[in-house]
Amino acid sequence: MGLNNMKILLTGGAGFIGSAMIRYIINHTEDSVMNVDKLTYAGNLESLTTVSHNPRYQFAQVDIGDKVRMPQIFDEYQPDVVMNLAAESHVDRSIDSPDAFLQTNILGTYNLLEISRRYWQNLSDERKEKFRFHHISTDEVFGDLEDTNALFTEQTPYSPNSPYSASKASSDHLVRAWQRTYGLPTVITNCSNNYGPFHFPEKLIPLMILNALAGKPLPVYGDGGQIRDWLFVEDHVRALYLVITQGKIGERYNIGGFNERKNIEVVQTICSLLDELRPQSTPYADLISFVKDRPGHDRRYAIDATKIKQELSWQPEHSFERGMRKTVQWYL
Ligand code: NAD
Repeated sequence: MGLNNMKILLTGGAGFIGSAMIRYIINHTEDSVMNVDKLTYAGNLESLTTVSHNPRYQFAQVDIGDKVRMPQIFDEYQPDVVMNLAAESHVDRSIDSPDAFLQTNILGTYNLLEISRRYWQNLSDERKEKFRFHHISTDEVFGDLEDTNALFTEQTPYSPNSPYSASKASSDHLVRAWQRTYGLPTVITNCSNNYGPFHFPEKLIPLMILNALAGKPLPVYGDGGQIRDWLFVEDHVRALYLVITQGKIGERYNIGGFNERKNIEVVQTICSLLDELRPQSTPYADLISFVKDRPGHDRRYAIDATKIKQELSWQPEHSFERGMRKTVQWYL
């Protein structure tokens, strides 16, 4: 895109991936960032304490669905790029109460697209050409790969199975339509499961680490045979930055770790690392307990990240072992 010193309006920056993205932008680029976050239960500004004093960082506590405040923020901040990471993101919560998922993930994204479109249409030709709307999505939109050796590519049809993944799939479709219908310069990325520091403790990896340290049971759904493709969050945000600076308009990029693991293997890895780093009289694996499976639980997700590897020269820098060691050490 050839833009230096970009102004990035990033939504959901107090969350797990959003905060990693902001730390990356402030620490590794000359760009500025406006963090727009509603601060739901999942938002934690403490994830940003190392960068929040920087003059290139600003924060506004606003809902992306707010039809009054959001246009004001665009007018005042004048972004070159929008990165949409604000979402309700926890599958179990989406099963118990889907409402917030539809509100934020679908209607919130719709509001952001409409405001972006109006803002973009009034930019000068030069700024219009450089503007990007980057929507951050998940591999869960593709559904389940049970009993196959297949991988999700950018051509895999959408087949979401949970209220969470259905709401993310809807938002991806809206972004695509705003590009095709209105010409808004969008890019979409679909990423596999992330892990790393500052992850909210309801998700598998932090939950297991914190339960183990507290001597509590380690609840594994079903037989623990569900396969996910794990990516260290710092590798994900490096990919996202490449996509906003070098990705092609209207394209989608899959991002994955080339690293499929069964859930039970992930939990066993955590237990072994804790046995080494914080030994106790009995192995942590003794705490593992199998619990009733989640309804509609997808068996296997796996990303083919060849396109981003070939076109943008991205690949993960952290092996699973190295990333997990860093993560466990951070929680310790
Ligand atoms: P998260 O739940 O940790 O953070 C979400 C953030 O969005 C929070 O800070 C929350 O306060 C904010 N937010 C929620 N609703 C909002 C609203 N209406 N307006 C403004 N802010 C709002 O999520 P995450 O794990 O960081 O995921 C970020 C994005 O990446 C999501 O879109 C998710 O679908 C996607 N994703 C996540 C993963 C993963 O493994 N975590 C993998 C692939 C894609």
